[in-house]
Amino acid sequence: MKELQRHFDIETHSGPFPIPKKKLVTKIKDKDGLISFPYDTIDKEVIESGKKLKTISAFSVGYDHIDIKSAKRRKIIIGYTPEVLTIATADLTITLILDMLRRVTEGDRLVRAGGWKEVFGPDTYVGEEIAGKTLGILGLGRIGKMVAKKAKVFDIKVIYHNRKKIPHKDEKSLGVRFVSLDSLFKKSDIISIHVPYSKETHEFVNKKLIKKMKKTAFLVNTARGKIIKENDLVLALKQKKIAGAALDVFYNEPISNKHPLTKLQNVVLAPHIGSSSVKTRAKMAELTVDNLKLGILGKKPIYSV
Ligand code: NAP
Repeated sequence: MKELQRHFDIETHSGPFPIPKKKLVTKIKDKDGLISFPYDTIDKEVIESGKKLKTISAFSVGYDHIDIKSAKRRKIIIGYTPEVLTIATADLTITLILDMLRRVTEGDRLVRAGGWKEVFGPDTYVGEEIAGKTLGILGLGRIGKMVAKKAKVFDIKVIYHNRKKIPHKDEKSLGVRFVSLDSLFKKSDIISIHVPYSKETHEFVNKKLIKKMKKTAFLVNTARGKIIKENDLVLALKQKKIAGAALDVFYNEPISNKHPLTKLQNVVLAPHIGSSSVKTRAKMAELTVDNLKLGILGKKPIYSV
């Protein structure tokens, strides 16, 4: 905000998030630039109302909340924040995997509820070990690759699926193997989702794919909620068709404590904190401001969509 104030007249939204659509459509009319967050919906109507709008700077690597086609038609420059959040998001993914396997959050819930009765029972609160497991990465891009790199130290086998295989030398240096989508879901003990949300990936992970998973397998999602058909996942978890899930993102955010996922013990829930480290958020803020400054001048942002 300090840096923005040095350069621009600023109007910020106050009140509950996200900004109501009607308000945004009105407010955008006389603005040159817009900073948006993943929970905002920057659709055709918003973009067409921004008659003076030159640039949109997204405070995220995901830009599925922006209608790119409409922005392109209006020659609006879009900036976003890849790379700087890769480590933080990969770290959270590894955290969720370990938490889910060793049932840390589940144990925390038990202790807080006064349910810790048996001290050091030989077979109580036992979880799974990560070593020797197969991790399947759906979307081996920036974050997927960082997850693979970090997961390797746990003595784990990594397979992946992308639309396009990565170069052989990169596969070799990362120690990963390309497999079909079918094999990814059949062979993995842990599946971690890192594809962007798009028309193509909308409800991509549904009962058809979940059915292919091992009964002992776990699912992790730190990408976007709508990539999973949530009702299908809830059913599979309830019926113990899979062993568990760890989720940082949801179909509609924030979820309430009445959401069916909150009733399941074999699930770890995080409030969309993939990039939420002090260091990363500072870098994202800096990049968002720099992208906005360049976009307003009609120049290419540091990272542009
Ligand atoms: P990226 O570098 O663009 O990687 C995406 C990967 O997904 C690419 O390897 C791409 O390879 C693959 N892919 C895309 N569409 C696919 C499809 N239909 N089927 C199979 N593979 C597909 O993106 P990133 O920087 O790693 O970020 C990934 C996503 O993470 C972001 O879009 C964002 O939504 C999410 N994210 C969430 C948080 C959080 O707070 N939880 C934080 C950061 C990022 P091909 O093109 O070869 O298919």
